[in-house]
Amino acid sequence: MKSDYKEIWQQVLDSVQQKIPHESFLTWFGPLRCLDSDNSILNIGVPNRFFYEFLEAHYRKQISEAIEEISSGDLKIKYHIMPAAKSGKVSPKSQIIEPVNRPLSGYDEKTQINPRYSFDNFVEGDGNSFAKAAALAVAEAPGKTPFNPLFIYGSTGLGKTHLLQAVGNFAVSNKKAKRILFATSEKFMNDFIFAIKAYKTTDFSRTYRSVDILLLDDIQFFQGKERTQLEFFHTFNSLYQAGKQIVLTSDRPHKELDDFDKRLISRIGWGLVSDIQPPDFETRLAIVQKRADQEGISLPDDVAEFLSRSIKENIRELESAMIRLVAHCSITGTDLNLPLAKEVLKDLIQEPIIVISIDLIQHQVADHFKIPYDSLIARNRKKDVAHARQIAMFLCTELTNSSLQSIGLHFGNRDHSTVIHARNMISHEITSNTEFGKEIDKLRAKMSG
Ligand code: ADP
Ligand code: MG
Repeated sequence: MKSDYKEIWQQVLDSVQQKIPHESFLTWFGPLRCLDSDNSILNIGVPNRFFYEFLEAHYRKQISEAIEEISSGDLKIKYHIMPAAKSGKVSPKSQIIEPVNRPLSGYDEKTQINPRYSFDNFVEGDGNSFAKAAALAVAEAPGKTPFNPLFIYGSTGLGKTHLLQAVGNFAVSNKKAKRILFATSEKFMNDFIFAIKAYKTTDFSRTYRSVDILLLDDIQFFQGKERTQLEFFHTFNSLYQAGKQIVLTSDRPHKELDDFDKRLISRIGWGLVSDIQPPDFETRLAIVQKRADQEGISLPDDVAEFLSRSIKENIRELESAMIRLVAHCSITGTDLNLPLAKEVLKDLIQEPIIVISIDLIQHQVADHFKIPYDSLIARNRKKDVAHARQIAMFLCTELTNSSLQSIGLHFGNRDHSTVIHARNMISHEITSNTEFGKEIDKLRAKMSG
């Protein structure tokens, strides 16, 4: 059997390849290596933990389907971090390398909780600090605060699942509760349906109603699913009456859940409802940097800023952009830098649609530097005015579609070469003076809303 595992892995790859876009296949499966394995466990080397998590999050289904097809289910995959893959180019024929690192501990099978989602790893910002405080409060005293249920909502990729699981992790490690169950609402429903079919509804009830903390993710999924809602309603009541903690997440406020049992909506209102809003630039940057630190990735500041500035609405996308960069570098053996980041992510990061006018930039810059708008346009040669003017010109070249001529025209009919000069001066200053760079970032952010 020993020699077969390479073949099995190749079959897994072949199967996955048919199911996902070619580009993604190359990015995510190219760097994987089949390590020495046996007939029950396939050891697979990944360049870093990020990579593993991305695979788990995005391709778990395809991989396990492939394995099922090939081995009829008795084969397991174990991933290993293989730092060697970081630098070296990956040869098309996978090379067998002894596992050099500890196997990765992923989800806890029993509680379904991923240890990475902790409060410590959760970066606080204006948009999420209330939700975090509430989550921490219930984790510290499950069932004993008025925050029962705790209902956290917000759009996708903003950390709801992270917070939900952090409650579980905290309660486990600080011994605040014994039995904790995390489930997606989809799993709740599937378990329920299975229980009905197998005449095992008692088992189902026992599983879900005997816990100290129930963490149920994405309950918008219950919309329109009456039977499941009813079952959840009973589960809810049973836990609530026993003083057990319930934490729910949703992608919308509870009052906007359609086709939802009114009694459930009203019960959610008994506890605490908290939203999560998209993070500001500083929070995004802190998240990216923290994540890179944790994974031992050296992310240049300008790349971190580029990422955080470009991807605003979704932390998951922000993280996967970073992973993609890291993956690219590990495949090609290149260093991570800003031009490369821009190139690699160009399809992902859409240039903002430009609605910023020269006029708006002029007013904002004048405002920011507290100088009269008129002097920005006039032939005023005072040093600070001239500097502000150059900044405004620079921003016009960057944020508008206007030609250099047209920009010059708007600044008191100046020549386009003056605009070029301003652009060069300011870009140079941005790269040589970090403080100044930050100030420009702020101005830019203000204008892009
Ligand atoms: P949601 O459930 O709201 O769709 P997730 O909880 O899955 O979002 O978060 C998406 C990714 O972003 C996860 O990897 C999570 O760890 C990360 N993330 C989100 N918010 C934060 C934060 N404030 N600090 C650190 N990581 C975060
Ligand atoms: Mg989620």
